[in-house]
Amino acid sequence: MMGDRDYRALIQSALGSIGKELQINVDSQNVQTIHLQEVVQCLRRSYFDRIDPVEIERRGFNELLSGLLRKLEYGSDPKEFDIDDIKLKGQTDMLVDDVIMLFRSAQNELENPLSNDVLYLNACLWIYDKTEGIIIYITGDKKETTFSLTRNKKMFEEVIRRVRVLNNLLKEQKAPILEPSTECSECQYYERCFVKKKNSKQVDIGEMLGIGKLGHKD
Ligand code: SF4
Repeated sequence: MMGDRDYRALIQSALGSIGKELQINVDSQNVQTIHLQEVVQCLRRSYFDRIDPVEIERRGFNELLSGLLRKLEYGSDPKEFDIDDIKLKGQTDMLVDDVIMLFRSAQNELENPLSNDVLYLNACLWIYDKTEGIIIYITGDKKETTFSLTRNKKMFEEVIRRVRVLNNLLKEQKAPILEPSTECSECQYYERCFVKKKNSKQVDIGEMLGIGKLGHKD
């Protein structure tokens, strides 16, 4: 904090506003359209995001990179894939020379791509009917790591299964089961899943035992 201004709060508020502008717009009432982002992350989180949302706290501008590229639509209009009467809607960050490209921020250089990014990229390959894609991770100190992928049917079938599960649970208004993972530690619903609010009442054990107040000498 400098002077009278709380700059941290100002930056948080700026990040929050830009983040809202760039995030994927999900119509929470329309359960027949499921967004790809909703099924590559924890389904329970996506359910809460629709039914009883809590805003996420954003930590830095590099988190906004992917949303910014999607917004600029570098050859990548959102597309829909029909699964019976459900629509799976996805959008790649970029589409260049028939190659699907995703950009993600990372804390450190990664040995392997993150599983939800692989699911996302693979599903985009099916939605856009392309065969090759890459994920580019960029760290805060501008180091890049790139992973390439050719499309895989089994992996896409898993995404389709998750689309059906989320669609059913939204229709039945039933929260999906917990999906414990590293995602939980940064999830805004952590307390709903793992830590119940304490309903504590101050109790004087000495009084309960009939021996006067503990810690006090008569
Ligand atoms: S805390 Fe974990 S299990 Fe619960 S909604 Fe978040 S990501 Fe899912």
